[in-house]
Amino acid sequence: MSDVFRGSFTQQEPIPEAGIEAAVAVMRSGRLHRYNTAPGEIAQTVLLEQEFAASVGATYCLAVASGGYAMATALRAVGVKAGDRVLTNAFTLAPVPGAIAAVGAVPVFVGVTPLLVLDLEDLAAKADQSSVLLLSHMRGHLCDMDRLMEICDAAGITVIEDCAHTMGAAWNGKPSGTWGTVGCYSCQTYKHMNAGEGGLLVTDDAQVAARAIMYSGSYMLYESHLAGPPKEAFETIRYETPNISGRMDNLRAAILRPQLADLATQCARWNERYFALEAGIRDVPGLTVIERPVQETIVGSSIQFLLNGWEAAAVLDLLGRCKARGVELKWFGNAEPVGFTSRYDSWRYVDAPAMPDSDNVLAGIVDMRVSLTLSLEDCTLITRIIREEVGRVWQFSA
Ligand SMILES: *Cc1c(COP(=O)(O)O)cnc(C)c1O
Repeated sequence: MSDVFRGSFTQQEPIPEAGIEAAVAVMRSGRLHRYNTAPGEIAQTVLLEQEFAASVGATYCLAVASGGYAMATALRAVGVKAGDRVLTNAFTLAPVPGAIAAVGAVPVFVGVTPLLVLDLEDLAAKADQSSVLLLSHMRGHLCDMDRLMEICDAAGITVIEDCAHTMGAAWNGKPSGTWGTVGCYSCQTYKHMNAGEGGLLVTDDAQVAARAIMYSGSYMLYESHLAGPPKEAFETIRYETPNISGRMDNLRAAILRPQLADLATQCARWNERYFALEAGIRDVPGLTVIERPVQETIVGSSIQFLLNGWEAAAVLDLLGRCKARGVELKWFGNAEPVGFTSRYDSWRYVDAPAMPDSDNVLAGIVDMRVSLTLSLEDCTLITRIIREEVGRVWQFSA
């Protein structure tokens, strides 16, 4: 008789009551658009931008329609043009190369190491191929950011950070999203703050901030952006920058503000679950946990482990067995992209050379979402199921 996990990996917690009340108040007011304010009123969107900028220690912040939109806007705002090449991770999710393609640019993939971070040697080798890196902190793993910035500064590469999985995380105490020129965040349902859809962009660069605000569709109302640069920054930019509408609305901002206030608490709750899961799968023969560097302040909203050297059939057998017991694992080694697990060679609009070292790593990556609706007892049961099933499958394939 074997235990089955009957919970859900995708069930989110409800929006905090304060967020629901604030959202209802916005709806009652009828003023959902960020530029539609009563005399003296500061829009929810603006308040969110001010609070988010303060939370990461950035000078400027812009709230937008999605994380993907934030990345495409950041690329445009730092001057990426159609036909330009942009360095990015081979191990990331589809919206990242998609943002590069959205501006007509061409992704150049940089490899992944067994610690699931950007391969900095590969980055250094490709540094002469582009002047922009869209760095994805995929699944919350931060590479050595000190070293990365050294490489990029020396090569004159502008860094844009995709922090969809690292909102609340830091390297050496400095928040992710504040290392590069622009930090981009997602507020889509499965990220660290949930507005259904939404994105945030931070920067300390007044010109980049001014361009991003104009791109997002500010109808020359940029002076109401209290987390934006002074109006002088818009002097010529306002005539030169097309409007590619992608603003956030006040309803989403109202839902997000109480979540931002709770973010540190939520991150601690994710980490409690993450470290419980990690402890539960440590020392399982055939399975390798991903060791986290001491410089990293993590937000454990997902967990990965490696099945190094496993045959595809054995991995699929394991996934099937775990699924039958209620444990949903995702595998990045699958020949076909399934759900969220696409990889560089799934994006066939990019002419990407094969990356054998990265392929080796990707072939072993197993991924599990950590929902805050999992209890610590759930984590114990889940890891017991993984341990038992790895034990069964590994025994026969080794
Ligand atoms: C979710 C996600 C994004 C942004 O996605 P949106 O759905 O557009 O908000 C960017 N990068 C990664 C790695 C993501 O998972």
